[in-house]
Amino acid sequence: MIQKKIAILGSTGSIGTQALQVIQAHPEQYEAYVLTANHRVDQLIAQARTHRPEAVVIADEAHYPRLREALADLPIKVYAGAQALCQIVEDSAIDLVLTAMVGYAGLKPTIHAIRAGKAIALANKETLVVAGELINCLAQTHRVPILPVDSEHSAIFQCLAGELENPVEKVILTASGGPFRTCSHAQLCAATKAEALRHPNWEMGAKITIDSASMMNKGFEVIEAKWLFGLQPGQIEVVVHPQSIIHSMVQFEDGSIKAQLGLPDMRLPIQYAFSYPRRLKNELPRLDFRTCPTLTFEQPDTTRFRNLALAYEALQRGGNMPCIVNAANEVVVAAFLRDEVSFPDMSRVIAATMAQATYLPQPQYDDYVQTDQEARRLASNILKSTSF
Ligand code: NDP
Ligand code: MG
Repeated sequence: MIQKKIAILGSTGSIGTQALQVIQAHPEQYEAYVLTANHRVDQLIAQARTHRPEAVVIADEAHYPRLREALADLPIKVYAGAQALCQIVEDSAIDLVLTAMVGYAGLKPTIHAIRAGKAIALANKETLVVAGELINCLAQTHRVPILPVDSEHSAIFQCLAGELENPVEKVILTASGGPFRTCSHAQLCAATKAEALRHPNWEMGAKITIDSASMMNKGFEVIEAKWLFGLQPGQIEVVVHPQSIIHSMVQFEDGSIKAQLGLPDMRLPIQYAFSYPRRLKNELPRLDFRTCPTLTFEQPDTTRFRNLALAYEALQRGGNMPCIVNAANEVVVAAFLRDEVSFPDMSRVIAATMAQATYLPQPQYDDYVQTDQEARRLASNILKSTSF
């Protein structure tokens, strides 16, 4: 196997650091060629000293002098700024770009990477939520594979291996239900940031952990599944499975259901996206069924977890509506993390933003930029008012 040169956008995050572990475990196969961060500069410096990439980028330019100075004794190119992220992914030596940045900020560098013909290992689901149609068109034009990293979509992707000729009846995304699965509405009203950040099964960045608690993450994954696997909304189901052992399932036209199982550990889907279509031997902990004898399943409750219903609504309406939901969600999650909005009020602000923002049925790239700005402005104003 030829060594793949990998650019990790967001190497200091939860997915980024686990991706570096995968690379470190398979030095013959993979090289960390580019590492990037936003403002955790010390962690980026440490990663660069360990992995010796060709280049590093810090999005927040204020940290550039410190980064450059700290790496001055090494032959590592050092860049700063959002534009540098878009340029670095075009480097002709890069084989694959792992999009492990969080939020809307991942969209533009992903577009640049696709245009430069790079294979994409996609963790940044917001890119497909905001602009799935555009990303699919670009990927087709440039003959670039979009390899899912999200555990549910990796599971579906693994179930589809060898099934090219066989139409899918539906996919079933599993959801852990998060820390508030069994909470009453009254308990949700009093839910704190600390409680929401305590995910039962996965260690992730703060934003996706809140999205998991509110089930917006699952809503986004429904939209992500549509674009990755070419499905209609009615073909995408969600089932709550608190043990997070079945990562998702595919039902074919003969009624047969295939599932992918394993311990909740993102290093496996990251590795599969890197090694696809091959599987690489690894030393990750193995699932032992004797230690998890019970697998249970529940219907998701879209009354207590309204975000899931809002995401389905956005998917049905299409156009720029998912982009509106994403922007409003980024605003309310940041506010929740500052203790400025209650847990259930996050959904109210998102719904009010959906009602007020300009709907565009066939958005182009510039429309997404405008929509994102408008929806953020609206959501911020709605948050400040008391009438939502
Ligand atoms: P983290 O918050 O842990 O990490 C985010 C990374 O992106 C960090 O390296 C951060 O840099 C960088 N970053 C953040 N904002 C910007 C910006 N504006 N410009 C450039 N870089 C930026 O997030 P996760 O690793 O948890 O998640 C990353 C993505 O993967 C998300 O889209 C998430 O939905 C998805 N995902 C994550 C899973 C998980 O298990 N964590 C599972 C499935 C999907 P810095 O450290 O300097 O802030
Ligand atoms: Mg997931």
